Amino acid sequence: MYDILIIGAGITGTFLARDLARYDLRIALLDKEDDIACGATMANSAIVHSGHDPKPGTFKARFNVRGNELYEDICRELGVAFKRCSALVVAASPEEEANLDILQRQALDRNVPVRRLNREEALALEPHLADSVTEALELSSTGIITPWEVAIALAEEAVLNQSDLFLSHRVESIETLPPAGDNDCPQKSRFRVTARTPDGQTHTFDARYVIDAAGVYADQIYAMVSPAQADPATRRFSITPRKGEYFVIDHEETPLFQRVIYPVPSEKGKGVLVVPTIHNNLLIGPNSDFIDDKEDVGNTAQALSYVREQVSKTAKDLPFHKVIRNFSGLRPTGDTHDFVIEEAADVPGFILVAAIESPGLSAAPAISEYVIHTLLAPKLSLVPRTDYKRRRPFLSLKDVSPAEYNEKIRENPAFGHIVCRCEQITEGEVLDAIHRPAGARTIKGVKKRCRPGMGRCQGGFCEPLITEILCRELGLTPQELLHMTDDCLQKGGACQ
Ligand SMILES: Cc1cc2nc3c(=O)[nH]c(=O)nc-3n(C[C@H](O)[C@H](O)[C@H](O)COP(=O)(O)OP(=O)(O)OC[C@H]3O[C@@H](n4cnc5c(N)ncnc54)[C@H](O)[C@@H]3O)c2cc1C
Repeated sequence: MYDILIIGAGITGTFLARDLARYDLRIALLDKEDDIACGATMANSAIVHSGHDPKPGTFKARFNVRGNELYEDICRELGVAFKRCSALVVAASPEEEANLDILQRQALDRNVPVRRLNREEALALEPHLADSVTEALELSSTGIITPWEVAIALAEEAVLNQSDLFLSHRVESIETLPPAGDNDCPQKSRFRVTARTPDGQTHTFDARYVIDAAGVYADQIYAMVSPAQADPATRRFSITPRKGEYFVIDHEETPLFQRVIYPVPSEKGKGVLVVPTIHNNLLIGPNSDFIDDKEDVGNTAQALSYVREQVSKTAKDLPFHKVIRNFSGLRPTGDTHDFVIEEAADVPGFILVAAIESPGLSAAPAISEYVIHTLLAPKLSLVPRTDYKRRRPFLSLKDVSPAEYNEKIRENPAFGHIVCRCEQITEGEVLDAIHRPAGARTIKGVKKRCRPGMGRCQGGFCEPLITEILCRELGLTPQELLHMTDDCLQKGGACQ
């Protein structure tokens, strides 16, 4: 029996799992996919927005600003990268300049650092802005992260602190159990959650509280326990996927843009952006199109040419000949126009953390803080763990001195064997990615943890070697491994 069962191991679910693991609670984190961060958390712009643009009075505005404040310290604690790279919102007409006025006032009201720049000042920071750009707002608190790396680190820390992670467990039904009378009765579960694994077996989990952090499926998960939600006429909310497609440009010593470049936002969202990544790639995108299929992450020529056309309004000289990949992600867009974060009115103990579209990545630490301290703390006794353990950062031999590198090779010759030439990844780093808590079980899982296959050849050289290592370490045949990986391979994602 679990105190809290979380459905969805994206950035929302993993933040909650790790933050709850600080307390003496029994926690389960379930995901239908074979790794952490396979939904929206894998395929997005990777920006920790400053919080300048969500509508006043919304959860989005409140949690974005607070999330931005929290991120840097959390990433330092987790040993993952965070860079406050700054951003420019650029205007190209008097109407857009008037919109900059509104955004500037909004930012000032929220204590978000902001500075107005004329064209020359903006060009001094980013020389490749489009010729049409007339003015800009500089938002210096804007940051970038590698989203799946943060989510994996959070899940690892939750597992290290006695949370149970169940991947490849698709939740299929949730039963409410008869009430205990006493809401805080430690013996009594309120929910029985049934999940199916790929071998067709079903597994049940009893829990006192369930948190629905299931991304584009959060509306359907809630409908499993709520007759009102199951009826389109009375449902609290519905979620429609809103697709965004991208180009990924190969990494360079110094990418063409150092800052995030936003156009002035429209009713469709933040618009087509230029985003430097932690690893010095550039992302160009996304578009914003509602679709019906919650699994459709394919790319289309139409959307990609729209992205190219739109970005030319804010940036020039972009090296499209160095594109190494395209990908797309699905925003879990609610008909509520704001995040839905509440205890379900009709199902006590069922916590909705739904419709977490942009700026959900930025807001995730603050959402977790709110759910734990405002929604759960009055109901659960939160006793801090005295033996809380910190995770060990991923190994990255690219970042160590030659002396340390040699020491590592002496410790284990696998650190002297390069398996990915583009990214200079060694067999030792791959072994670490597989054997750490919540370790990689698939080719893509290895790629997400230590980057083989992220470079120009896109795995052409290293994938057979990674397959060999995974099979050897996990005791699988290549057929078994590729069968496990199949589903994930079809979902390209930002993890290239
Ligand atoms: C194109 C795009 C660009 C974006 N850019 C930014 C940005 O730059 N900055 C920002 O702040 N935000 C951005 N966002 C938003 C951000 O990515 C999301 O808000 C965030 O990733 C949502 O995380 P999540 O954990 O709620 O959902 P997800 O990451 O989607 O996780 C939900 C999880 O639930 C699991 N699940 C679903 N159904 C079941 C089931 N039946 N059983 C078990 N598990 C289940 C899924 O497998 C998935 O892993 C962007 C989103 C998109 C799509």
